[in-house]
Amino acid sequence: MNHFDYHDGELYAEQVAISRIAREVGTPFYCYSTATLVRHYTVFADALKAAGLDATVCFACKANPNLAVIRTFAELGAGADVVSEGELRQALAAGVPPGRIVFSGVGKTLHELEFAVAKGILQINVESEPELLLLSQVAAARGVRMPIALRVNPDVDAGTHAKITTGKKENKFGIEWTRAREVYALAQSLPGVEVVGVACHIGSQLTELEPFREAFLRVRDLVALLRADGIDIRRLDLGGGLGVPYDGETPPSPAAYAKVMAETLGDLGCRIVVEPGRLLVGNAGILVSRVVYVKEGATRTFLIVDAAMNDLMRPALYDAHHAIFPVHQARPGEEPVEVDVVGPVCESGDTFAKQRRLPPMRSGDLLAFGTAGAYGAAMSSTYNTRPLVPEVLVKDEAYAVVRARPSYDEMRALESLPDWF
Ligand SMILES: *Cc1c(COP(=O)(O)O)cnc(C)c1O
Repeated sequence: MNHFDYHDGELYAEQVAISRIAREVGTPFYCYSTATLVRHYTVFADALKAAGLDATVCFACKANPNLAVIRTFAELGAGADVVSEGELRQALAAGVPPGRIVFSGVGKTLHELEFAVAKGILQINVESEPELLLLSQVAAARGVRMPIALRVNPDVDAGTHAKITTGKKENKFGIEWTRAREVYALAQSLPGVEVVGVACHIGSQLTELEPFREAFLRVRDLVALLRADGIDIRRLDLGGGLGVPYDGETPPSPAAYAKVMAETLGDLGCRIVVEPGRLLVGNAGILVSRVVYVKEGATRTFLIVDAAMNDLMRPALYDAHHAIFPVHQARPGEEPVEVDVVGPVCESGDTFAKQRRLPPMRSGDLLAFGTAGAYGAAMSSTYNTRPLVPEVLVKDEAYAVVRARPSYDEMRALESLPDWF
């Protein structure tokens, strides 16, 4: 459920007309709804509590690293899961306490590890032996033992898109299941790390519970082995990955997901960390765009809009489906027509939808892409030297621009001509 609804035939975010934001901010722009963010977080956190789990919800910032979005969750008590120094800085700047931040990722650099250790965050999820050795050195040099979990790769098929599955043994993520015990033994022998847990994240946009259950059962087995080896496992980081509906999928509810967690791991006496990203923000955002031209092709009609693949990359990258709806509903008697919705970028991949049924639209009309709050603005770029798409946050009858559209001068300010010209 979300708070983007029509009133008198016109699309609103909470109590703010989308057409008003479009007039004042210009298009394209992302629009997020605070009430929807709050609702998603609350439903998720309550489901874990109701299942009897002692859980910390660390929002996976990579899904939407906007400061105001992270702050909205931080005020509800959320932690953060970060995958780079940049995200760690965003989370801190948004007011997430270091004691609620988890650092994940396969390629943390020396500098990133030093920064994370210096900030005293909750935990680093280590994904390889070389990283483990480097981290131990970094922490020992500062005279501290950094709390860690080893991210293990449980070799289960998440049943999701190949580009966002992460828990198969041929994926680059985590420590191979079969070697986990050995690497834990190594970690135990190092001076700069304190082993506190096991971490696992098998992929994104999962729409079934079975892969989670399979992975959690494997984690359970591993905990038993490690405890038998004398390692005090007291925290389980179970990653994110719960999917959202884009095109009629029916992903499991947070309650059903929490139930699987409680059934498989609830009796181990561990503190649980979860890292939902998409689930918390996906549905809470739309991308608003204006029709530039309606072009009649030889065999089809193209709606050429002012948003492009650089603003919303998911269709080009994952063949992802996004609902598209008009900001002004069809007038009575207007029959839907089939159109291809495309952006202006010079690539055929810059196509948002093919043969989509929409009310007849004209140049200047506004439309919105649904479920764009996750991996939308986060993945945007300036390809074709297009300014980064701005972001707007709505709360009740107010809205604020929470990331401004840069000017062309600002875009060029980082570049310079060498003095040999
Ligand atoms: C991407 C990622 C997440 C979040 O995944 P969602 O599918 O957005 O919930 C959580 N943890 C890790 C380690 C990730 O890489």
